Amino acid sequence: MQGRIPENILDDILARVDIVEVISGFLPLKKAGRNFKACCPFHHEKTPSFMVSPDRQIYHCFGCGESGNAFKFLMRYERLDFPEAVEALASRAGVVLPRTENFPGQPSSGITTQLYKINELAASFYSANLNAPAGLKAKEYLLQRGIRQETISALKLGFAPDNWDSLINYLRSKGVSLGILEKAGLAIGKEGGGFYDRFRNRIIFPIFDIKGRVLGFGARVLDNSLPKYLNSPETAVYTKGKNLYGFNLAKDGIRENDFVAIVEGYLDFILPFQEGLKSVTASLGTALTVEQARFLKRYTHNVVMVYDADTAGELATLRSLDIFIEEEMNVRVVSLPAGLDPDLFVRKEGIAAFKEKIASAENLFDYKLKVLKSRYNAKEIEGRAKVSGLMLETIARFKNAILKSEYLKKLAQELNLKEEALLEEIRKVKTEKAYAYPQTKLERKTYHTNATEKLLMSLMLEENGLVSRIRESLDLEDFQDERISRIVSIMFNLVDQGKQVEPQILMNHLGDDISELVSESVFLTQNAPASEAHREKVVSDCIQRMKNERLKLERQRLHEQIKAAQHVGDEELLSRLTEEFHCLIKKKAG
Ligand SMILES: [Zn+2]
Repeated sequence: MQGRIPENILDDILARVDIVEVISGFLPLKKAGRNFKACCPFHHEKTPSFMVSPDRQIYHCFGCGESGNAFKFLMRYERLDFPEAVEALASRAGVVLPRTENFPGQPSSGITTQLYKINELAASFYSANLNAPAGLKAKEYLLQRGIRQETISALKLGFAPDNWDSLINYLRSKGVSLGILEKAGLAIGKEGGGFYDRFRNRIIFPIFDIKGRVLGFGARVLDNSLPKYLNSPETAVYTKGKNLYGFNLAKDGIRENDFVAIVEGYLDFILPFQEGLKSVTASLGTALTVEQARFLKRYTHNVVMVYDADTAGELATLRSLDIFIEEEMNVRVVSLPAGLDPDLFVRKEGIAAFKEKIASAENLFDYKLKVLKSRYNAKEIEGRAKVSGLMLETIARFKNAILKSEYLKKLAQELNLKEEALLEEIRKVKTEKAYAYPQTKLERKTYHTNATEKLLMSLMLEENGLVSRIRESLDLEDFQDERISRIVSIMFNLVDQGKQVEPQILMNHLGDDISELVSESVFLTQNAPASEAHREKVVSDCIQRMKNERLKLERQRLHEQIKAAQHVGDEELLSRLTEEFHCLIKKKAG
């Protein structure tokens, strides 16, 4: 797991950051005894089983088994790779990392670092082209749409020349290999060999992450040819449905205004933002993903979805909004007049009118009901049953019982139906999730852990002094459980290096399924303080039991071998094995 970052630096960082502080930057943590708890961000649950220990500086989810230290949390939650997580925590802790040179194409730097670097170079290339004679037409096109030079610079808009290999040649001159260019999604391999530029004769919109790093690109034609937009394929740094366009620029505005207007496309973001709507971002798709919703939730709970008239009426669009209700966010909807998207609306009606529209957005309940009533005849019983059924799908997702019952009451009034009937119906609504939760582990292996070894391991985790004591009494071979034996061997190594055996440090050396075992036992033994004498008794019992167990297994093994030797009639082997067998029996007696 750890890269080339020296171990003592990792230990130093872990010693200086507080995992409770790190995690509460993302989730609300509640005090629970000596620990903190929250609803797990890695699986769906309604009662908290995600625990954080301030004493041991680790977290563990009793629901899905996700576990780790502060590095691991950042890796999982922010989807960073290990060096990135280390970097993030190092700067937080004020620890200076040893400088490693990263040049694109150099195999020594991690793939994500290389891709960021290449994307950055490509963005500068496109941007320079927009301002060169070749980009004149594209530049005019943007200016004529009302986009000002300062906006073009702020968003690093660019132009991909009408050639097959402009970018390839430029990046190769910078020492970037073709293979990595393909990995960045910027070059496409030809069938007979060779590569060509993915984006040609298009306006380029770099997509940034929150730190302003370039993740990928959107590319638009200058005329009416198709496809109108091309996007980067998914790469090691770019995943569709995970990012929000313009968020890096709008995040402060979103936090300050405590709401976010969500539009669909690049241009729908640009003009409103330029004209002064500072809390806006683009989803780059009609429906938001749960990752985008959760990401936004860290900045505001209030969302206004801005749709053009044709998208807004779609049932699929309405359904996708249930995501916000499940995330307990407030969602309102604006639908623009037919034929107008946010870009066109602002150009025609001005930003004040657009802000007005947003201020008067309807809440999801009212909006959805209006759309459904216009679609089904609510004067007839069947129509009302259909409308109520679709409304109940949304209402069923409210976690708050008061909201749920108030909306039921309102629906009954609006449709002139009996509330009791709706109550009966809502129980039938299967609240299958509006979306699929990201599965962090595809399948959980089941292990048969040995209870004695597990107990001994938790005691060792609790008390450092015990590790040396166990080391004198037991061999690694005495541990039959492969995972525990691995943990114990790392503990032995740490002690040899004169280090403390802290779970959070141990975890830097362990894979997911093993780390889970450590964190689980830390949380489970925490609440069972034992007297010194009692602990001593438990430890020696464990040691004895494990020794007996090993002897028993060895006896079984010898027994099998003896039977085999008898079967083939190998007298010499037989007598050697029998002697070994007697020794073993004596060992037990002694
Ligand atoms: Zn979980």
